[in-house]
Amino acid sequence: MLIDSYDRVVDYLRISVTERCNFRCNYCMPEKPFSWVPKENLLTFEELFEFVKVCIDEGVKKIRITGGEPLLREGLDQFIKMIYDYEPAVDLAMTTNAYLLKDAAQKLKNAGLKRINVSIDTLKPEVAQEIAGKDVLKNVLEGVEEALRVGLKVKVNMVPMKSVNADEIIDVLEYCKKRDMSIRFIEYMENSHAKAEIKGLKSAELLKILKEKYNFTDHGFDGASPSHYYVMDDGYKFGIIEPYEDDFCTKCNRIRLTAEGHLIPCLYFDEALSIGEAIKRGDIRRATLILKEVVKNKPEKNRWGGEDGESSSRAFYETGG
Ligand code: SAM
Ligand code: SF4
Repeated sequence: MLIDSYDRVVDYLRISVTERCNFRCNYCMPEKPFSWVPKENLLTFEELFEFVKVCIDEGVKKIRITGGEPLLREGLDQFIKMIYDYEPAVDLAMTTNAYLLKDAAQKLKNAGLKRINVSIDTLKPEVAQEIAGKDVLKNVLEGVEEALRVGLKVKVNMVPMKSVNADEIIDVLEYCKKRDMSIRFIEYMENSHAKAEIKGLKSAELLKILKEKYNFTDHGFDGASPSHYYVMDDGYKFGIIEPYEDDFCTKCNRIRLTAEGHLIPCLYFDEALSIGEAIKRGDIRRATLILKEVVKNKPEKNRWGGEDGESSSRAFYETGG
C-alpha cells in the first residue's frame, strides 16, 4: 500500500497520455504551445502499462486517463484493455472533451472503460466556439449521447466564468439532470497559460445562483473525492470543486503521471521525478523506488492562494487537470 507522510493512502493514478489537444480552451491552452514534447520522448502504451502494473501491485485502485485530449492518442482502447485484463477490478475512467467520442465510445466500453468525465462549459455553439477556439459543440453533444447509449457512466465538468458562461449554470445542470449525469462545477484555477482576462466564479457565487432556483442541502464530501456535494430535494446530487478551500487536500489520494514519465505528487507543484528512463530500461525495481519516493514527498497542501502567492507554471494540459 502507498501511504504518504501525512498518512493519506495513495490509491488513485491519473495518467496524462498526451499534452496535445484539438481544443484551445481559454482557461487551459488558449494558444498552441511553443513546442510539443517530441513524440520520441513519450512513453509508449506498453511502457506506460509496465508502470501501471507496478502501481496496481502497490495498491492503486483507480486509474483515470486524461490529457491534453486523450482521444487524440491512437491505440487508447488497447491500452485500456491491457489495464482491464491485468486487473478488471480497477476503477477505469477517462476525462475527455468528447469531440472524438462518438466514434470511440463503443470501443472504449468494450475495452473495459467504466466511466468518463466530459467537459461541457456551455450549450451555446457560439460560446463553445469562444471558449474552445473552434466550432465544437455538435460533436461534443453527439459524443455524450453515444457514450450514454453504449452504457458508459458519464459525469460532466463545467468551469463557470464571468461574462462567458455564468448565465448557463442552470441550463447545463438541467441538461445533465435530464440525462441522469452528475455535474461538477470546477472553480477556475488561475494559471500562467490561461487568458489573462478570465474571472472564475467562486463557489459562494455559484451557490447563490443555484439557490434562486433549487432547494438543496450540503452533503459534504464523499470519500476522497475533491468535490463538495449538494443534494437537491428530488435527490439529484451536484458537486463543486473548490481548490482554494483549506480542506481541499486533506483527503487527497492521487498522483499524476505525464506522457513523458514525470510522476507528479500534486497538481499545483513543480516538483516531479521521472520514471521514464527506468521504465525504458526495464528497471521495474527503480521505477517502484521512484514511485515510493514521490508518494513519500507528496506535499500536505497545494500552493493555491498560499501566503507566498506561489503557484505552478506547469500547464493543466500537461498534468491532466
Ligand atoms: N481535454 C480533456 C478535457 O478537457 O476534459 C481532459 C484534460 S483537461 C486538462 C481536464 C479538466 O481540467 C477539464 O475538466 C478542464 O475543464 C479542467 N481544467 C483545465 N484548465 C482548468 C483551469 N484553469 N481551471 C479549472 N479547471 C481546468
Ligand atoms: Fe484541451 Fe481539455 Fe485543456 Fe480544453 S481543457 S484545452 S479540451 S486539455
